[in-house]
Amino acid sequence: NTESALHFAKSNGRSNFQFYNEDIQTKTLRKLTVGNHLRKALDRNELELVYQPKLNINKNTIIGMEALLRWHNTAIGAIEPDEFIAIAEETGQVNEIGNWVLEEACAQARMWQLRNYNLPVSVNISARQFQQQSLYKTVANVLAKNQLPPELLELEITETMLLDDPDSAITTLNQLKEMGVRIAVDDFGTGYSSLSYLKKLPINTLKIDKTFIQDLDTDTDDAAIANAIISLAKNLNLAVIAEGVETHQQLEFLKQAGCHEIQGFLISPPMTAQASTLFIDDLTRR
Ligand code: C2E
Ligand code: MG
Ligand code: MG
Ligand code: MG
Repeated sequence: NTESALHFAKSNGRSNFQFYNEDIQTKTLRKLTVGNHLRKALDRNELELVYQPKLNINKNTIIGMEALLRWHNTAIGAIEPDEFIAIAEETGQVNEIGNWVLEEACAQARMWQLRNYNLPVSVNISARQFQQQSLYKTVANVLAKNQLPPELLELEITETMLLDDPDSAITTLNQLKEMGVRIAVDDFGTGYSSLSYLKKLPINTLKIDKTFIQDLDTDTDDAAIANAIISLAKNLNLAVIAEGVETHQQLEFLKQAGCHEIQGFLISPPMTAQASTLFIDDLTRR
C-alpha cells in the first residue's frame, strides 16, 4: 500500500524513505519485466484459455462457459490474470491479447456447437478494450470468421467501465445488443452504478461478486447485499448469477433467495478446453 508506505516513510525519517523508494523500484521493475515477457507471449504460444462452467442448479444444466486467461512463462513463473491484465492495460498490450482471447473463445464455442452443444462462451473484456470504438466491428469479424451465432457469445464487463464514459458505453452496448451478443455485468456490487442508470442499459445479466458470496453464511451484510442484487435483477428483468460459490451452505442460501445460476469451485474450477469438453459430455449424457 503506497499511502501507508509513504506515511511510514515520513514518520520514520531518512532511512525509511529509502525503503519506500526501493518498494517503488521493485514494482516498476516487475512491471517492466512482466511487460517485456508479455510482449512475446502471443508469438511464443504461452497464452491459454481455461473454461469455468455456469450451471442452472434447478435443471442441472450447463448454461455457459466462461473463458479465463492463463499465461505460462518459466521466467516469470506463476502469475495471475489480475496482475498481468492490469500491466497489459497500462502498456497497451491488452487490446492485442484481448483480440486473441475473443478469437480463441469463439473458435472453441464453435467447436462445441459442432458437437451439438449450444453453449454461450463468456469473455472478459478489459476497460481499454471496451473503450475502443471499433469493438463491435472486431466482435462482428470474429463471429463471422468462426461462423458463430452472436447469441453464443457473452461479454463480461464491469460497472466501472460503464461509468468512465457513460455515453460511449451506451453506444457500444447498443451496437453489441443489435448484433445479438449478450452482456453480463461482472463483479456486480463492487462498483457504484446508479440504479436508474442501470435500467437504461441493454444488459442481460448481473453477476454477483464473489466477495459477497464468500461469507454469506456468517456475514448478515453480505447476505443482505446478495438478496438485494437478486431482487434488483428480478425487478429489472435481468438474469442473475452468483460467482465464487464454494460450499453447499452458500448454494442453499442462493437457492432460497431465488438465484439459480451458479458458478464456483463447488461445481468446478476452470478447466483446460479438453477437460471442459469431457465435463460437458459427462453432464449432458446423464
Ligand atoms: P472474474 O472474471 O471475476 O473471474 C472470476 C475469478 O474467480 C477467476 O479468477 C476464477 O478462477 C475465480 N474463481 C472461480 N470460482 C471461484 C471460487 O469458487 N472461489 C474463488 N475464490 N475464486 C473462484 P482468475 O482466473 O484468476 O481471473 C481473475 C480476473 O482476471 C477475472 O475475474 C477477470 O477480471 C480477469 N481475467 C481473466 N481472464 C481474462 C481475460 O481473458 N481478459 C480480461 N480482460 N480479463 C481477464
Ligand atoms: Mg468474469
Ligand atoms: Mg467476477
Ligand atoms: Mg474480477
